[in-house]
Order: sequence, then structure tokens, then C-alpha cells
Amino acid sequence: MIEVLPKEKITAKLLTRHELVQSKKYKWSCFVCDYKKDGRVFVYNNLSTQLYQIENGEVVFEKDRLYTAAELMENESLKQLAMDYFLVEEDQNEDEAYEQLIELVIAMYGKREKGYSSYTILPTTACNARCFYCFEKGMEIVTMSDDTVKATIDYILKTKRNGKITLSWFGGEPLVRADIIDRICSALRESGVEFVSNLTTNGSLITPALVQRMKDEWKLNYVQITVDGDQAEYDRRKAYVSPQGSG
Ligand code: SF4
Repeated sequence: MIEVLPKEKITAKLLTRHELVQSKKYKWSCFVCDYKKDGRVFVYNNLSTQLYQIENGEVVFEKDRLYTAAELMENESLKQLAMDYFLVEEDQNEDEAYEQLIELVIAMYGKREKGYSSYTILPTTACNARCFYCFEKGMEIVTMSDDTVKATIDYILKTKRNGKITLSWFGGEPLVRADIIDRICSALRESGVEFVSNLTTNGSLITPALVQRMKDEWKLNYVQITVDGDQAEYDRRKAYVSPQGSG
């Protein structure tokens, strides 16, 4: 097994070696996902940003499987993954553990900068273009549910620093679900949050009316639009369709 990306610096300080308890069973953390690329298999921990490449089937990622501590100890790769919090105790409440970690980060680093100053938000991974070079090609299309929208607003309110924050809208094509951007911006405004935002977009869904909303309600101060060539080349590369998940 190869460590491709290490833990992010702050979480590395807090998530030190996870000791295994003989009497416990272990599950894959809800923060872990697997993916395959060019015949290679990877597991990624969204909490720590650590990424491992699995070699020769030494570990099989079975989301619902439980392991005894003995099983983990017998397999060097599984043991390493468990020590790095890819596997956690079966009875662990990971929502609570996450909240505690955030509070700890804010408490420890509060003197320098209390809370986050920027958030990157993907309202949807759906897109109305089909660029051959898209890095999300083949990935499942996911759009924020009502609960996720609400949880995102709560999360920002709970973790933001004092003063102005920045929201970065990303996708997929974020404008496929401009309504979600509206809802998040409107809730933050109602809560008195000062913010500006920026947007990465293919630009195809921008209309004069939307520009006004972007300016007045989303407080957009920066837009990155991909231009793939002249009109003919652009149309060929984008191959626009109606997106799935556009709600
Ligand atoms: S516009 Fe962006 S998200 Fe959409 S298909 Fe092209 S690269 Fe992918």
C-alpha cells in the first residue's frame, strides 16, 4: 500500500495514531471513499485528506463489512488504515467525533484565526456539458438534498470566522442548481453573515436576469469561465445536453 497524500497538517496533529482495542469491532469510516483510476485502486479519507493506493488487492473496500481487531492486526495494510482512522470503532458516532474535532481546531487555532474564512460548495455534480477532459467523467451525479442544504448553512454559521467570508461555487456546473445557491445566500444574509462569492462555470446558463442576481444576491466578485477555443471548437468540446439532476 502506498501513501499518495499525507494527512492535512492540522488534522495530522489531532488525529495521531489510532490505537486498536481487542474487544472492539471496526467499520469503515463514513469519511472514507474508494475510487479506481487507470486500473489502480485508491481509498481517500475526507476528514484527514489522506490518500492511499491499494496494491494487488491487499485490501478490499467493503463499505458495510465489520472487522475484529485481530483481523485488522493480521493484515499490515488494514492495520495501517485503522491506525489512520480509515476504520473506526463500530459504535463510534462519527457526527459527534467530527463536531468535537472542529471545536478542537477552533479552540487550538482560535487565537490566530477563529473559524473558516472561505467555503467551496458544490450544489451539484451535474453538468450540461460533456467535455472529453472532464475530471468528473464517470462519477456519480449527486445534487444537494434539502437536508444537505440546511446542514451546509448550519455548518457555515457554526464554523465561520468573524467578518466577511468567501463562498466559492463549484460543480459540475453550479448554475444547473442556481436555486440552491439562492437558498444558501439568502439564509446567510438573513443571519447577518457578510460574504462575497466567486463562481467556476462553463457560462452557458448565464442570462441577464441571472447576472443581476449574481451581483445583488450572491455578491459575486469573480467568475471563472472556461473558453475551449473558437465557437466551433468550443461547441465540439462542450457537446451540451440537458443535465441530469437539474431539479
Ligand atoms: S463544463 Fe466542467 S464540469 Fe461540465 S463537463 Fe466540462 S469540465 Fe466537466
